[in-house]
Amino acid sequence: MMRENSGLRSSVKPMNRVLVIGGGPAGMMAAISAAEAGCEVTLFEKNEKLGKKLYLTGKGRCNLTNEADISDFFAEVARNPKFLYSAFYGFDNRAVQDFFSEKCRVPLKTERGGRIFPVSDHSSDIIRALEKELTRLGVAIRLHSPVSLIERDAGGFRIVTGKETVFGETIVLATGGCSYPTTGSDGTAFALAESLGHTVTRLFPSLVPIVTAERFPERLAGLTLKNVTLSVYDGKKELCSEFGELLFTHTGISGPIALKCSCKAAPALTEGKTLSMRLDLKSALSEEKLTERILREIEATPNQELKSLMPRLLPKSLGEVLLEAAGLPGETRLHSLTKEMRCTLIRCLKAFPMTAKGTAGFKEAIITNGGIPVKEINPATMESKVVPGLFFAGEMIDCDAHTGGYNLQIAWSTGHLAGESCSGK
Ligand SMILES: Cc1cc2nc3c(=O)[nH]c(=O)nc-3n(C[C@H](O)[C@H](O)[C@H](O)COP(=O)(O)OP(=O)(O)OC[C@H]3O[C@@H](n4cnc5c(N)ncnc54)[C@H](O)[C@@H]3O)c2cc1C
Repeated sequence: MMRENSGLRSSVKPMNRVLVIGGGPAGMMAAISAAEAGCEVTLFEKNEKLGKKLYLTGKGRCNLTNEADISDFFAEVARNPKFLYSAFYGFDNRAVQDFFSEKCRVPLKTERGGRIFPVSDHSSDIIRALEKELTRLGVAIRLHSPVSLIERDAGGFRIVTGKETVFGETIVLATGGCSYPTTGSDGTAFALAESLGHTVTRLFPSLVPIVTAERFPERLAGLTLKNVTLSVYDGKKELCSEFGELLFTHTGISGPIALKCSCKAAPALTEGKTLSMRLDLKSALSEEKLTERILREIEATPNQELKSLMPRLLPKSLGEVLLEAAGLPGETRLHSLTKEMRCTLIRCLKAFPMTAKGTAGFKEAIITNGGIPVKEINPATMESKVVPGLFFAGEMIDCDAHTGGYNLQIAWSTGHLAGESCSGK
């Protein structure tokens, strides 16, 4: 486990004292870059250890970035992708991989969808590598140190923790968003930025399970569907449509496509709106092809009941739910299925209706939508346009991305840029 260290001075003459607030991926990377650039750096983390959320990432395996070309990353950023241009190109996914695999000697591997993980499948290896690097560079680490106050002082800032008051010429705020508050990023640190004159946009949970008005998901909890398409509508307007894997939960839906749709749906849901959803359970088949297939099934087994046809089309539990939702009696013999009943069945298979009535909230959200508005931050340096000498990094900025390693890339890239910029180089 990381021990606090007193901060050995780098051999390079310090240009200034940098106070980094928040020991997550963005703060650790900022501290490393600032120290590498010759600054005297102190890192403040309110928890008893660094990287509590980082430890949970990728189900404990840490999907640290993605293999895709960096130019493709922008399409994966849900909010304010252009703001990340300098940060992404200044320290891209190749640089992140080099940093961990070459500098820190953590072997990496690429999995489905270009997702990059440590070969060991342990996020703790990534945290340990960062800790080693911080120590090597002489960064002073203050654990159990929640920063409760930042004051501007002649030529810099004075920050107050439960234990001490410390002066620094520059500050990096990297205190995360509001998601998974038990990891330390509970949103309270946004008040520090506000106290210095910044604003904070409305904050919404994102990449978050969707809660449905219908109760049937409870019966399907744990069931994963592959190759389905989820579409979400606000009235008649389609908000989003995603193809891939979906998971039923006790209260609704999750899995990659539900999480992705939540990026667009969560703001409306958080404001109390209900949204209609349609699930195409047979995305690979057009309505015509599906009709042909069902007619073939009917012809082959006319005396069978409808309920025995369903397992040939869908997982058994979902077949039962679908027949109930469609109001079709499972005992109907296939030969007596009317055209109207067949059309109802096909409509339900191609556009199974559900209603989104909320989200699982910040406690289960992978990321926060919102934060410090990008117009208040210089994208070339991550320096505040409101308070010179104050820099931002990571999830507290109003940028967020889809799953696949893109959010950690935002943390590494903005952290690196903020840390480097602190040195004034
Ligand atoms: C379950 C889960 C899985 C995820 N998996 C992935 C994944 O595989 N790949 C991916 O790209 N992204 C993933 N993410 C998203 C990723 O974890 C975040 O994008 C990333 O952690 C943001 O980094 P950060 O440093 O900005 O904030 P955080 O990691 O939240 O770190 C902020 C730190 O600041 C500290 N802090 C807060 N206030 C104060 C204060 N006042 N004083 C001192 N310290 C303070 C907090 O304790 C915290 O340690 C996942 C998120 C979750 C919740």
